[in-house]
Amino acid sequence: MTTHYDTVIHGGRVVLFDRVQQLDIGIKGGVIAALGIDGLVSAEEKIDASGLVVVPGMIDAHVHLNEPGLPDWEGIPSGTAALAAGGCTTCIDMPLNGLPPTTTVAALKTKRGLFEGRSYTDYAFWGGLVPGNLAQLEPLAAEGVAGFKAFMSAAGGKQEGAFREVDDLTLYEGMKEIARLGKILALHSESEQIVAALSADKRRNGQLSARDYLESRPVYAEVEAVKRALFYSRLTGCSLHFVHISCPEAVEHIWQARREGQNVTLESCPHYLVLTEDALDEIGPLAKCAPPLRSEGEREGLWDAIGRGHIDMITSDHSPCPPELKTSSDWFEIWGGISGAQSSMELLLDEGYNRRGLALPLLCRMLSTNPARRFGLSAKGEIAQGRDADLALVDFTSYRLEREHLLDRHKQNPYVGREIGCRVKYTLLRGETVYNAANKMTSLAGGCHAYSSAGMVRK
Ligand SMILES: [Zn+2]
Repeated sequence: MTTHYDTVIHGGRVVLFDRVQQLDIGIKGGVIAALGIDGLVSAEEKIDASGLVVVPGMIDAHVHLNEPGLPDWEGIPSGTAALAAGGCTTCIDMPLNGLPPTTTVAALKTKRGLFEGRSYTDYAFWGGLVPGNLAQLEPLAAEGVAGFKAFMSAAGGKQEGAFREVDDLTLYEGMKEIARLGKILALHSESEQIVAALSADKRRNGQLSARDYLESRPVYAEVEAVKRALFYSRLTGCSLHFVHISCPEAVEHIWQARREGQNVTLESCPHYLVLTEDALDEIGPLAKCAPPLRSEGEREGLWDAIGRGHIDMITSDHSPCPPELKTSSDWFEIWGGISGAQSSMELLLDEGYNRRGLALPLLCRMLSTNPARRFGLSAKGEIAQGRDADLALVDFTSYRLEREHLLDRHKQNPYVGREIGCRVKYTLLRGETVYNAANKMTSLAGGCHAYSSAGMVRK
């Protein structure tokens, strides 16, 4: 008996959980229905993947798409189109910098409404923990946020109503409540006390260069905040996820806590793995982020941590802004955020596999499997029978990234001009092609789906 599939992806080298194998993938009803070695028969569409590597679609657990309330900023259609072009099929949107930020149920509902019919990827949402919104955490959890996000140092954005960092008591009380709700708290960990004091000193002395900015956010400010958060987590039993960890010392503190039984994970980002602090001079303001880019030693230490399996996931932390916010000569005024939505997978596979010989399954677990598991996206994260057919087809020949390849709104990607040793050719979301590099086409896959931590919310 022959089963007919809606689509068959034929002849690709497929990255499974723990190995790479040449397989055909049969897709039916948006789901991976079969993985076969003998040639599956399709009723509708056959995609020739010979010479390509087929990987699970990236789950980018850290993006800022800047809706609502910031019409000159990124936006959901452009931001998710860029994600799709980079092989991403699900994103989790941060509770800032939209206005209002996602710190109330009303704001969450507004944002969810804005995603409907306008997103090229599936999506889920972070809620925010800020001073004064403790009572909102339970209803936000009931509405299905993937978890909560808090800042331990000042968040960017000066507008009225913008997202505010937590004080220690809010952090402690918030963790108690989030533990009670069985959710995860994601933390931007830098010590506000240290960073604010060092920044004030610099500014008072008129020291406003890139180097001064770097010196205002030292590694010890990040490590101190990580250790303090781990302490409160021990007291409260709250599960933590550390976002954009930039130094191996913080990674190892987190792993020590994990060995001692704490429920804690961490992410790093391509910019900490590909660039160093020299990029602030070579590339300029597009390379400003917080925590800042670090030394080459820190960067290579992060790769060693990846090799040991100590970095759970890679996220873009796509944090775009209008171009005029990247122009000041005062580095403390420049917007801190890197626009890398489209480049995460290509950079990680190029730098990790091509240049450092790390195994593709390890890299794809960081891009897909681990975030799916951590944030409860059980239909996603792996190429396996029964999972959503969320796939990227990658060509391992190099190309030069040009500005016109980019689909995000302001195209301030710091990797423009870089030779990258692989390229996403197609992205499929639940079996439908949402991106095809040949014609730079993105298309909406019949209305994308919102996810809650409990699974897909089908409308
Ligand atoms: Zn961020």
